[in-house]
Amino acid sequence: MPELPEVETTLRALAHRLDARRITGVEQRRADLRFGLPAGLPARLAGRRLTGFARRAKYLQLMLDDGMALLLHLGMSGRLLFDGPPAGPHEHLTFHFDDGTILRFVDPRRFGMLDLSPQATLGEHKWLAHLGLEPLGNAFDGAALRDRLAGRQVALKIAIMDQRHVVGVGNIYASESLHRAGLSPRRLACTLGPARAQRLAASIREVLLEAIDAGGSSLRDYVQSNGELGNFQRQFRVYDRAGLPCTGCGRPVARLVQGGRATFFCGRCQR
Ligand SMILES: [Zn+2]
Repeated sequence: MPELPEVETTLRALAHRLDARRITGVEQRRADLRFGLPAGLPARLAGRRLTGFARRAKYLQLMLDDGMALLLHLGMSGRLLFDGPPAGPHEHLTFHFDDGTILRFVDPRRFGMLDLSPQATLGEHKWLAHLGLEPLGNAFDGAALRDRLAGRQVALKIAIMDQRHVVGVGNIYASESLHRAGLSPRRLACTLGPARAQRLAASIREVLLEAIDAGGSSLRDYVQSNGELGNFQRQFRVYDRAGLPCTGCGRPVARLVQGGRATFFCGRCQR
């Protein structure tokens, strides 16, 4: 599943290739993905120019010159491909641009989501309104995180993976950021003081930015969002390293299951 770093990388590739481009045509091959697609989608997009690119959690936002925004989520298996030959039966949408660029939306499992929304009320869209802190946003810091977790009687790792609190911290990034911050995944979220909250906020941001840097270097005209982590997995300090020495202290990395997901941590370095 594409995680936040892959979606951010995709966003940058889209902005690089499509800024100020005009959509000349859209081929739509089915009426729905995870949900029904907007009525009359090809006609509503044809002729529109792209004026801006943004992201909220894993939702890509392509701004159109008529005040609307195209909202796109890649779901479990969605990918965007530039140019090349047709991608087969799972290519559900094909966008053509005025410079000859072709953008293909390919999604075998069809959990992808697409909608049109006025830019002015985008934040109130039903897919976005409930979302928590944006970890790469300017407002994300220890105070904001602590505020969000206040009173939460739930394990810290579960809390930071909850989209209502913080968006985009997938399983790998949760384990890695907690190790860097020296915080136990089992600690109750409500016990974070200002210093620990600040360490965790900084670690979450750092881990996500490193993953973006690792994934971004291999992407040029090909938008790859298949969940691959690029070179970031070489930098794992605890994730998938059960029994191997902790990079901080040498003690074997421990594994436990929280909320049905594997957690990796060091019992000595993380308190
Ligand atoms: Zn350790």
